[in-house]
Amino acid sequence: MAYPHTHELGLPLKDYRVNGSPFGKDCTYEGVNWGIHLGEDVICEGGTKIFSIGRGRVVHCQLHAGTKEKGNWGWVAIIAHKNPKTKKVFFSICGHMGRVFVSKGDTVELGQKIGTIGASNTPENGFWETPHLHFAIFTGPWQRKILPGYFKPEHKRTKLEWWVSPKEFIERY
Ligand SMILES: [Zn+2]
Repeated sequence: MAYPHTHELGLPLKDYRVNGSPFGKDCTYEGVNWGIHLGEDVICEGGTKIFSIGRGRVVHCQLHAGTKEKGNWGWVAIIAHKNPKTKKVFFSICGHMGRVFVSKGDTVELGQKIGTIGASNTPENGFWETPHLHFAIFTGPWQRKILPGYFKPEHKRTKLEWWVSPKEFIERY
């Protein structure tokens, strides 16, 4: 599939600070080990606006509702971007959104508002106590299904080498 060229990248929040789990952290919440964190968590208030990091196409946008028993993605969007120099396709993932303003198939522009941060302990935020954005960049081959937020070797769902430190990737683009 042809994806739009992405000449420039920006961050998904106006005030982007990794004040939650960093990229590559081995995460355990309430005794449950989720594995190695494949994105960066930015804790911020519910309702905070989330922006597309660059021109691209929405390839997945769905509610993966969380429950009290099991945390999940909540509303998550995956956007495909194409580097015009290297011709390589990569994907940006934003999870735990309370509202989304895009749909699968939409072309989005750099800085376009795509959603808002979901409120604490709602199905939309994946039922996490702390409202936050999970933001990740995936550079591997995409199989047209939801991507994991954490890496566990036994699940064989992804490879660590396909994930990059998101803020660093954007700053070096
Ligand atoms: Zn996260």
